Amino acid sequence: MSQKFDVLVIGAGPGGYVAAIRAAQLGLKTACIEKYQGKDDKLALGGTCLNVGCIPSKALLDSSWKYHEAKESFGQHGISVKDVAMDVPAMIGRKTTIVKNLTAGIAGLFKANGVTTIEGHGKLLANKQVEVTGLDGTVQVYEADSIIIAAGSQPIDIPPAPVDQEVIVDSTGALEFQEVPKKLGVIGAGVIGLELGSVWARLGAEVTVIEAQEQFLPAVDEQVAKEALKVLTKQGLNIRLGARLTATQVEKNQVTVSFTEANGEQQMTFDKLIVAVGRRPETSNLLAADSGVTLDERGSIYVDDQCATSVPGVYAIGDVVRGPMLAHKASEEGVMVAERIAGQKTQMNYDLIPGVIYTHPEIAGVGKTEQTLKGEGVAINVGVFPFAASGRAMAANDTTGFVKIIADAQTDRVLGVHVIGPSAAELVQQGAIAMEFGTSAEDLGMMVFSHPTLSETMKEAALAVNGKAIHIGNRKKR
Ligand code: FAD
Ligand code: AMP
Repeated sequence: MSQKFDVLVIGAGPGGYVAAIRAAQLGLKTACIEKYQGKDDKLALGGTCLNVGCIPSKALLDSSWKYHEAKESFGQHGISVKDVAMDVPAMIGRKTTIVKNLTAGIAGLFKANGVTTIEGHGKLLANKQVEVTGLDGTVQVYEADSIIIAAGSQPIDIPPAPVDQEVIVDSTGALEFQEVPKKLGVIGAGVIGLELGSVWARLGAEVTVIEAQEQFLPAVDEQVAKEALKVLTKQGLNIRLGARLTATQVEKNQVTVSFTEANGEQQMTFDKLIVAVGRRPETSNLLAADSGVTLDERGSIYVDDQCATSVPGVYAIGDVVRGPMLAHKASEEGVMVAERIAGQKTQMNYDLIPGVIYTHPEIAGVGKTEQTLKGEGVAINVGVFPFAASGRAMAANDTTGFVKIIADAQTDRVLGVHVIGPSAAELVQQGAIAMEFGTSAEDLGMMVFSHPTLSETMKEAALAVNGKAIHIGNRKKR
């Protein structure tokens, strides 16, 4: 007899573990299947995000930024530090400890909420059954009234750059370098390529980013992307746009990379090469031929707006389905699905998913970009406020960038908030809250903000939408 649950979740990343916890909170008998083993060969919950994604990358970004500041900008505060040095294995060790604590924390949350952990690889069969091949090879079948697939994603491999995790690495390998590569190549100027490139550039690597597209960060507001390209280039990232990788050759612990640019074939040699050309939904050996669950044209599991697949009672969430591959999108889908299974009518607002690139300055946005709104023919007013005019940013010696607020010209409703600058990730969340409640730029500008804060730039940008900013000249006066 197979064991039966109310809810079976495949995958314990931010989509799956959140769905499992929420389902258990709602009184459903819930189990979560996970196969990932950490560095110690033990089962590790938390998925890509906790093990090899969001958290470890931010740990290295924070360490490398502190090193950079100690070396380059403490002097401006009058602090002299001699012989600043980076112990790379210690930095990587700190990151590994954080990962370990967090993944253990999920195991604790499962216990506290009564979620059963099933170790192994899950495969969806017909009739809401799941076959689990345990880490020891034993096979067992489970069944459930509702199944949530949260199998996540894997880095995309490209034939010209086969990953060996030694010289040519993917994002996971790039979190494990034991020394700073002298010359580092990065294929792909997306979020992951820019973040990991920044880590190693701050520690002294000479970084070249090879990007096939002509446009830098096409999904980001154009004004922000333009500033980002300028700032990152000034920081030393050699960003080659319109450059398509064609071949690599590894020899004596170095890799020679061939790529085509407008002016012909180029070659460069690196000590390490990070391949960061995107991620693909993880569906390998996940769906039996008769499971009934279908894929869409991009290879993601097909789901509707409520994450229901083509099989009643089977749902899919997170990176394995359409939409941005972001941890917070996965988690919110997990909550929505668990609550809907429990009979609630929860909906998720797909229009307000913030996106962040954790470079310095950070780049963050929520809602629509200026170019999208113009393409849609929407009449808009735009307010921009530079951090150079913020007292708090000046005090922090962190004045690069600006806040940009876009509002509907007819209704004044805020349609997009885009920030490049200090704490952009935190600031843009204020925009998300405002937009969730349908705020106008005028409302936001009328709120009382503490002084001095970086947040005041949000107020000033909102005021600037209608020509009422106080601490800069307004393009139009009201
Ligand atoms: P995952 O986190 O990929 O989890 C899926 C889990 O399912 C895995 O643990 C996997 O082992 C397991 N699994 C798969 N198939 C099976 C099976 N058949 N049986 C059992 N278990 C299975 N996002 C952000 O929002 N912010 C960031 O700052 C950020 N930084 C990132 C940095 C890097 C370097 C990377 C690589 C990603 C980053 N992301 C970030 C993206 C984020 O990690 C993902 O969007 C998020 O983890 C997706 O969650 P998920 O639950 O859908 O899938
Ligand atoms: P993202 O999907 O945000 O992770 O970004 C991945 C980036 O890699 C995209 O901007 C792609 O254009 C880029 N890319 C994909 N294939 C290649 C290639 N062969 N050479 C250079 N860049 C590439």
